[in-house]
Order: sequence, then C-alpha cells, then structure tokens
Amino acid sequence: MQQHTTSYYAASRNQHVDYPELLDSVECDVCIIGAGYTGLSTALFLLEQGFTVTIVEAAKVGFGASGRNGGQIVNSYSRDIDVIERTVGARQASLLGAMAFEGGRIIRERVARYGIECDLKDGGVFAAFNDKQMKHLEAQKRLWERYGNDQLELLDSRRIRDVVATNRYVGGLLDMSGGHIHPLNLALGEAAAVVSLGGNIYEQSPAIRIDRGDRPVVHTPKGQVRSRFVVVAGNAYLGGLVPELASKSMPCGTQVIATEPLSEELAHRLLPQDYCVEDCNYLLDYYRLSGDRRLIYGGGVVYGARDPANIEKIIRPKMLKTFPQLAKVKIDFAWTGNFLLTLSRLPQVGRLGDNLYYSQGCSGHGVTYTHLAGKILAEALRGQAERFDAFASLPHYPFPGGRMMQVPFSALGAAYYQLRDRLGV
Ligand SMILES: Cc1cc2nc3c(=O)[nH]c(=O)nc-3n(C[C@H](O)[C@H](O)[C@H](O)COP(=O)(O)OP(=O)(O)OC[C@H]3O[C@@H](n4cnc5c(N)ncnc54)[C@H](O)[C@@H]3O)c2cc1C
Repeated sequence: MQQHTTSYYAASRNQHVDYPELLDSVECDVCIIGAGYTGLSTALFLLEQGFTVTIVEAAKVGFGASGRNGGQIVNSYSRDIDVIERTVGARQASLLGAMAFEGGRIIRERVARYGIECDLKDGGVFAAFNDKQMKHLEAQKRLWERYGNDQLELLDSRRIRDVVATNRYVGGLLDMSGGHIHPLNLALGEAAAVVSLGGNIYEQSPAIRIDRGDRPVVHTPKGQVRSRFVVVAGNAYLGGLVPELASKSMPCGTQVIATEPLSEELAHRLLPQDYCVEDCNYLLDYYRLSGDRRLIYGGGVVYGARDPANIEKIIRPKMLKTFPQLAKVKIDFAWTGNFLLTLSRLPQVGRLGDNLYYSQGCSGHGVTYTHLAGKILAEALRGQAERFDAFASLPHYPFPGGRMMQVPFSALGAAYYQLRDRLGV
C-alpha cells in the first residue's frame, strides 16, 4: 500500500481517512485519474454542476505534488503573461491574462465554502537579489496591474527587511493576493468536499489502461470505470499511461525541509507579517512559516525526478545562507516531490478525441493554476470551451533528443541558469 511520503504535512494532517480500493465495475459521467489539486478541483466544479464523478487515485489523496509542495499561493503561471502575449494571439493572451489571478480566488472560495482548515494566510513576496531582478519585478507589477491585480506593492531595500530578516535582497514585490497554505490539508479538505457532494474516490487504484472510444473505460487492477468523459490528472506521477503526453513534459524533483517549531519571538523576527517568500532566481528558493511556526524551506531541482540521497545536506545550506541565525535549529523533516516541467514552462492542456481531457505540466508553480484548471475543464465538459481552448492553443514541443535525452538536456539548461543566477545577469 502506498502511503503519503514522510513529511511535515503527513505528520500534521488533520484527517486520517482511507478511501476504498476500486473492486468493482462502476459507471459515471466523468472518471478522473489522480487525486491531486487538478483532479479534486475538477471533481468539485463538476459535482457542483450536477455531474456524477469517480476519482481513481494510484496511492492516496494528495500523494503527489499537491500534498508535498511549498504551500505557496503564487499567481499567474510559471512563465508570465508577457511571454504568453508573445506566444499566442492577442485574444488568447487577454483571455489567459484575465485568468492569471483566478486560481488564488478559487482556493479562498473553497476554503471558505467547505470550511477547510489549512492555515491559509495572505501575502506572498518575490525577492530580488540584484537590480536586474528588481527591474523585472517593476515590469511584473505593471503587467499584473494591467490584468487587474491591484494588491501589489514594490518593496525597496529598506522595506524588504521589514518583511524578511535577511540582508540578501535588494528589494521585492509583495502580492497580497498571494499567500500560503498547508497543502496536504487543503487537498484532504477538498476530497472531503468531493465526497460530501456525492463524488466517489478510490485510493490504491491506479489506472493501468484506458479503452478509448464513445464510452471510454478506465481499468484499475481490480475494477473499471465506464464514463462519458475521462480527465487525466496524474501530472508528474502519470508515467506512460497516455503515451501522447510523455515526450513533451518531464518529471523533476524539488526538495523541502521543515525545522523544529521556532519560538514565537524567533519566528516573528524572521517573517514578522508571516508572508511567504520566493526569490527571483531561475533555480529558486522558497520558504514560509507553518501554522506551528516551523520554517518550511524548499529549493533545488533534480531533473528526471530521481530522489536525492541526502535532502537536508542540499537544502539546509541554502536556508542558512538566507537565515544564518538558524544555525542551531534542528531539521525535523526532509522530503522530495515531483512536478512536471514543459519546455515552455506553460501548462500542457488539451483533449485526445472527443472525450479524453488532460491538464498537466505547470512546471513548478501549480497551486493556483491547478485550481483554475478544474474550473476550465468543467466548463469544457459542459460545452463552454473558450477558456479551455485558450490554454489548449499554447504550443508545446518535445524535449530535444526525445525521452532519453531529456535529463542531460535539462541538466545543461539548469547549469546555464545556475551560472546566470550566480553572476546576476
Ligand atoms: C516539492 C514541491 C514544491 C512545490 N511548491 C510549490 C509552491 O510552493 N507553489 C506552487 O504554486 N507550486 C508548487 N509546486 C507545484 C505544485 O505542487 C503542482 O504543480 C501541483 O500540486 C500539481 O497538482 P496535480 O494535481 O496536477 O498533480 P499531483 O498533485 O502530482 O497529483 C497527481 C496525482 O495523480 C496520481 N496518479 C498518477 N498516475 C495515476 C494513475 N495512473 N492512476 C491513478 N492515479 C494516478 C498520483 O498518485 C497523484 O496523487 C511544488 C511541487 C513540488 C513537488
């Protein structure tokens, strides 16, 4: 039986529910593969609109990235709207830009409507190491304001020290519509909401084959789901189930540590307003306080999603570079998780045939996008596909050299960006 990875989140989850394994043949309108945010958000929107829904999950609800991530509610996409403006036509870009802040609103609405306890806090900071990154943040503020975000504030070198106790940054951008959550408790709360609306969730039930056609059938080792539509939401953990999707995306690992609980005084000194922070490097560090005042610190990327041998050894030095004052603080938890990278770093969205839909590959920033994905997938299944098609129109390309070359290619790319980050160019 696959359990949640050993993490601070699993140790502090507020529900210990085992959903049953699928042992039967069931019928429904929509079968969803994967119980991360994409699958759960899609299920909730569909159930709210009267569809019958079954989710099959290979392991546990929130087993994947959704139950292990940094917990940062980051707006927009892993490449920003200006890149989208240059990639697709004006109409598509304005549709996608208008959706860039919707995911965060959906999370807050879900938390309020279903009473989900997940330590939700408002406020996220992008921190700049140099003037070039600061200029980028100024441009990002103008861009995001153009698309309706009026909750932004530039922080100069003095102001940023008021929100994070390190002298590494020259400034930053505060987004009060960003924020942070306990990611696994959000996923578990959403799963409980799915069940409360009559949805079915089966754990330990991997989809091992999809018979496509008018009435597709999703097979698990001991059961099957016959439905009108299938939504594939397995992201970095999907493997080769849908071969068409594999060459244009690559699973990557990123690592997180959690300290022991800090004293109230120390926690307040580090992050007085309790905002989350991510820096502006390509290979970025991200951190925040948990509900019980641990510092949750993430960073690093392992291309190809191999598990690194000693996570603490990789991440602790990064944490101490930012906060040398934590030298004596113990690390209680260290874990890794996989996100799905695309070459453009934009989400990979579309349909195969008339009734098999997918959304994946949000490349590192997916907490907000995956919640939006649920909404646009549900719209598309109801026949209103304009917003879905705006995402589906984003071009995607195979990683050069094909699957075998994905890892070396991206590792080269990472080395290049690491050098750029270090030189501040
Ligand atoms: C360590 C880490 C830190 C991150 N930090 C942040 C952050 O701070 N902010 C942010 O915005 N984003 C962050 N991300 C990215 C974000 O977590 C993801 O983009 C998002 O959670 C993806 O959700 P998902 O539902 O698409 O995929 P997942 O959450 O990975 O869910 C996919 C699910 O599908 C299941 N599955 C796969 N194959 C099958 C199958 N064949 N049959 C049945 N089930 C299957 C898996 O078991 C899994 O539960 C982070 C990611 C990681 C790994």
